Amino acid sequence: MAEGFEKYGFPDGKRYNSFVGYFKRKYGERLQKIVLDAGFTCPNRDGKVGRGGCTYCDNAAFHPSYSTAGKSLHQQLDEGIEFHKVRYRTTEHYLAYFQSFSNTYAPLDRLSRLYEEALNHPDVVGIVIGTRPDCVDESKLDYLASLVRGEAMPGWSRVINGEVRTAPIVIVEYGIESCYNQTLLRINRGHDFQTAQKAVQMTAERGIDVGAHFILGLPGETCQMMLDSCSLINSLPIRSVKFHQLQIVKGTKMEKEYAEVPQDFVRFSLDEYLDFFVDMLERLRADLSIERFVGEVPPRFVNETPWGLIRNVELIRLLDLRLEARSTWQGRLLSL
Ligand code: SF4
Repeated sequence: MAEGFEKYGFPDGKRYNSFVGYFKRKYGERLQKIVLDAGFTCPNRDGKVGRGGCTYCDNAAFHPSYSTAGKSLHQQLDEGIEFHKVRYRTTEHYLAYFQSFSNTYAPLDRLSRLYEEALNHPDVVGIVIGTRPDCVDESKLDYLASLVRGEAMPGWSRVINGEVRTAPIVIVEYGIESCYNQTLLRINRGHDFQTAQKAVQMTAERGIDVGAHFILGLPGETCQMMLDSCSLINSLPIRSVKFHQLQIVKGTKMEKEYAEVPQDFVRFSLDEYLDFFVDMLERLRADLSIERFVGEVPPRFVNETPWGLIRNVELIRLLDLRLEARSTWQGRLLSL
């Protein structure tokens, strides 16, 4: 008997709106991101906004071995494509993912040169730009909008699934991390939630796809607070969202804080996290693509691995099973 989620037509028959499925549906094929380190820094480390960075940050923990700033972007792309070809043999097109540090934190002429260098790789059909909400301005966003309209790189074209496209895919992914200013202050983010709201608005109103990243389990936040933040997340004009459980990286300020006040942290067992994330999904708009629901910092970097060594594909399977066991789906509570 139909339960109610079928009417949403979530990709791949899932009970939530998966980002991989979104790409497959929109472009007719799977697109793989290739992580790049384009040599940017971060204003929360170099003193412009702050020093020492966010209390949980160790950027080395977040990028794969093929992506290092000493290599040209084309070399990183070639090596990244080789790396992923082993796992996804049928993938033909890639998104260059400017991930390390703050990838709009430079003068516009340097940014445009780097983005266009990546887009000139023959297998690349778009760029994903990870950045902080306080590292964009009108001129940078206007340039990205001109890329989206196919004006910034005249003559650029790619054939995706038999269709000629003359404008690259452009996604800006903002690290928002929390909707609570007291949390953002405590983790030394160096910006507040209102800055994130403004950046997302300025980006979306220019026709640029926006993604957002949040961390679940930051100090001082209860499960109820995280669940309540879904209504603010729903109010943002974003197309996709990534979540990950807080993983405490060795040697960070957060590791020290956790040792001192563990009672301020919600630490989920895998079973608890699956249930908690189902609770989150029930409160998130059904049209929001869920790109990720767990983090994957390599075990050597983290202070504990309470879930053991479990692969992302298995975690996704467990989430599917939990949604089914609870007869629920993304956005269910919003439609009651
Ligand atoms: S903004 Fe990003 S790169 Fe900068 S300190 Fe925070 S987590 Fe690290």
